Amino acid sequence: MLQPQKPGIPLPAPSLVTQPFWDGCRAGELRYQRCQDCGAITMNPSPACSSCFGTNLGWEVSAGKGEIYSYTVVWRPQTPAFEVPYVPAVVELDEGFPLMSAIVGCEVDDVKVGMRVKAVFEEMSEEITLIYFEPAT
Ligand SMILES: [Zn+2]
Repeated sequence: MLQPQKPGIPLPAPSLVTQPFWDGCRAGELRYQRCQDCGAITMNPSPACSSCFGTNLGWEVSAGKGEIYSYTVVWRPQTPAFEVPYVPAVVELDEGFPLMSAIVGCEVDDVKVGMRVKAVFEEMSEEITLIYFEPAT
């Protein structure tokens, strides 16, 4: 069964731009930016809209549901801290943006492109909670 990684793996270092995203993760929310001028979604967090380059961005909360766009199975980890196998995946959220994450809660052979998944949150430290995706039931 694929599981979240255990504490001890390298963790992200939030910046002023990404802090609202990480605050959302700690609150159990997948937050993303939407341009208040043109309506385009910007993800990953950015100081400027990926469509019109304006800086009038607001934060919204995703329902956390989507489908697997692509994935791979890792058997040789980047560092020994990672337990294998794990399945990094690009998930296309229903709101219309992709997110790089990993799949948990099923066997490796169950993972398929197009599979419906939902976000789950795993606390890794006091500051960092990571988003994983598991099969939607
Ligand atoms: Zn814009």
